[in-house]
Amino acid sequence: MDIIVLTRDASKKDIKHIVKKLEGWGLKAHISHGTERTLIGVIGDTSKITEDEENAVRAIRGVEDVMRILKPYKLASREFKAQNTVIKIKGKIIGGKKIQVIAGPCAVENKTMMMNIATKVKSSGASFIRGGAFKPRTSPYAFQGLGEEGLRYLAEASRKTGLPVVTEIMDPRDLDVMLKYSDIIQIGARNMQNFRLLLEVGMCNKPVLLKRGLSATIKEWLMAAEYIMSKGNQQVILCERGIRTFETETRNTLDLSAVPVLKQKTHLPVIVDPSHGVGKWGLVSPMAKAAVAAGADGLLIEVHTNPEEAVSDGEQSLKPEAFKKLMSELKPIARAVGRDI
Ligand code: PEP
Ligand code: MN
Repeated sequence: MDIIVLTRDASKKDIKHIVKKLEGWGLKAHISHGTERTLIGVIGDTSKITEDEENAVRAIRGVEDVMRILKPYKLASREFKAQNTVIKIKGKIIGGKKIQVIAGPCAVENKTMMMNIATKVKSSGASFIRGGAFKPRTSPYAFQGLGEEGLRYLAEASRKTGLPVVTEIMDPRDLDVMLKYSDIIQIGARNMQNFRLLLEVGMCNKPVLLKRGLSATIKEWLMAAEYIMSKGNQQVILCERGIRTFETETRNTLDLSAVPVLKQKTHLPVIVDPSHGVGKWGLVSPMAKAAVAAGADGLLIEVHTNPEEAVSDGEQSLKPEAFKKLMSELKPIARAVGRDI
């Protein structure tokens, strides 16, 4: 028993009674008020519930039906929530008609560059700024990010431009400072299965951008989203950023088929990061366009005013002029698939 479908006339008292019953079994309830029906998602190990117990639940006032979900994820599934999840952040909507573009450098390097890039991407139509203050680098000797100082520059660039901030968390101990300075918390590819980190962000009230792991299947990725959602935070945005394959021409293989697959399986918004997907700036624009055509709800694009001097990911960063050109070229593609940008 994973989902309890309520009758149209189920009262608050009925719901309370059902929740109590679930709690008696050591389970929790997640109530979802849809336009058609109210559903209760049963959270916890539901395999222990016997068929007799399940049938007894059917007899409770207010219960119309009881369903099992064969998929390992529930809250993230379309079965549990048919309508697309729409996430509102400071007046911006992710998962609606408008395609939202998150743009900025790989890492926050200093205040001037962050302010410059933020102003430029805003004027080209980006809706969010990004930049890493805590960087997950392959080498421990490489630049690790400015930490809180970087977060302060992001917040300042946000104040100046009015664009909300997306930035990556690596350690649950940084959660308080992240909550203070960011609008969307990014979980990077390398931490997609850092389950303690997922549970921590699941307990907070900020949208989470969950990047696909370097070699994660779509199912594993959705299970990672489920970790966050199981703790109460339903505001999860999935970000395809390329996976490891045998191909070496590109940094990763951008799996654009993940977009329509996810659209079938989950109600969560899906965005695409072609920058990390291909790793070469000359390939970013074509893949960004393909992502929009495939149905992505947004894009994450690395932009740098001086990629030659960038401390990280310069080779995949667009210059502000190239970003501007891309934004205008995306317009007819978005329109062709019934979206705005
Ligand atoms: C990033 O967004 O800068 C980043 C490190 O991405 P990923 O986790 O996808 O490698
Ligand atoms: Mn990067």
